[in-house]
Amino acid sequence: MNDDQLLRYSRHILLNEIGVEGQERLRDTHMLVIGAGGLGSPAAYYLTSAGVGTLTLVDGDNVDLTNLQRQILHTTERIGLPKTESGRIALAALNPEVRVVTVARRVDAAALDGLVADATVVLDCCDNFATRHAVNRACVSHRRPLVSGAAVRFDGQIASFDVRAAESPCYACLFPPGDGEDELCSVMGVFAPVTGIVGTIQAAEALKFAAGAGTSLTGRLLMLDALTMQWHSVRVPRDPDCPVCAAR
Ligand SMILES: [Zn+2]
Repeated sequence: MNDDQLLRYSRHILLNEIGVEGQERLRDTHMLVIGAGGLGSPAAYYLTSAGVGTLTLVDGDNVDLTNLQRQILHTTERIGLPKTESGRIALAALNPEVRVVTVARRVDAAALDGLVADATVVLDCCDNFATRHAVNRACVSHRRPLVSGAAVRFDGQIASFDVRAAESPCYACLFPPGDGEDELCSVMGVFAPVTGIVGTIQAAEALKFAAGAGTSLTGRLLMLDALTMQWHSVRVPRDPDCPVCAAR
C-alpha cells in the first residue's frame, strides 16, 4: 500500500482483526452486489469506502423519483439514468481506487453463473425471490459466501450462507423454492432507515468474509423489528433434503 492508502484505510489498519494484511485482502476482493436499490446502496457505499478491489453492481432498473426516499446511491439529478451508472458515479466520487463494473440488466441464471464464478463474496440486495434463488444456486455451485438481506415495512432480515463450511445451510434450506410471496417486496412500503441498517450489516458481513475477521452470521437469521427496535436471531439448520444443496 502507498502512503495515501495507509492514510485512507488507517482506521481499519489500527484494528487488530484487520490490520495491513486484512486490508490487503480487501483490496484483492471482488464483491458482487445484486441490486443497486435500498440495500445495495449502503452496502456498495461501505464496500467502496472500505477499499475492496473490484465491485460489480448489477441492476436492470433506472433511477425513479420513488427510489430516492431510501436508495442513497442515487440523486434527484440522476433520475432516469440506469441505477448502475448512477451508482458508479457515486462510488467513483467516494473512492476512485475501487474498480466498479456495472451490469445494467436483470440477470438470469446463466448470467449469474458467470458473475458469481468471478466474485469472491456475493451480496443479495435484490427485491424478488426468483433472483434470490438463482443467486443462491450459483453461490452453492461455485462455493461462494452469500450475504442475503431483505427489508419490508419496518422489518429487516439478514443471513449469511457459506457452503464452504459443511454445516452451513443455503438460502433454499431457509426459504424453500416455490414458497414465494414473489415480487411483493417491490410494491410494499418500507421505512427508509431499515434498508440502510440491513444493507450496512450486509457490508459488514461481506467485509468480514473478505478480511477473514470474526465470526459470520452463517447458520443464523438475524431479524429486526424497527417499530419496537427489537432484534432477535434464530438458528437456521441445514436441510438434508434441500433441493439445492443436499447433494453438495
Ligand atoms: Zn440448502
